[in-house]
Amino acid sequence: MEWGRVTYPFFLKCLKTQLNYLKMNARKINNPSQALEFLKGGNATATFVGQSSRYTYKIRKADKGDMYFVSLLVGANNESDYLYIGCINDQRGFFQTAKSNHKGLAPALAFGFIYSRLLNGVIDSRTEIWHEGRCCKCGRKLTTPESIERGMGAECSKG
Ligand SMILES: [Zn+2]
Repeated sequence: MEWGRVTYPFFLKCLKTQLNYLKMNARKINNPSQALEFLKGGNATATFVGQSSRYTYKIRKADKGDMYFVSLLVGANNESDYLYIGCINDQRGFFQTAKSNHKGLAPALAFGFIYSRLLNGVIDSRTEIWHEGRCCKCGRKLTTPESIERGMGAECSKG
């Protein structure tokens, strides 16, 4: 790396991203069944990193049944700026509905593709799945190495 050729704002941006990750104890999930367990924790935030794009999703369990709502991070606030894009259930995997945003567009296609690969027991080789350092069930910040590894706090993993 030639530092002289890297612009200062770009360098700062990279540093900030790295620091955010460190701060939040984000972690790449390497095991497909752990990834599925994580995504279906009930209150999960995950980032899918592809070769040229990255998308952050929130996956929330519905009050009843085996339904999950998937939304996409579309703004700067990673707590609130999410837009509904579709659902997950056991019968259909990921699917979009009449109220879905980004219908048939890249963020939705990416989620559907990665999710169906996971159901087949595979993390697509061109994709990384990262959790954001928060418990996939209760949303609390993860602190211990064991919890960070699986994306779920010790208490929640008992249930
Ligand atoms: Zn928890």
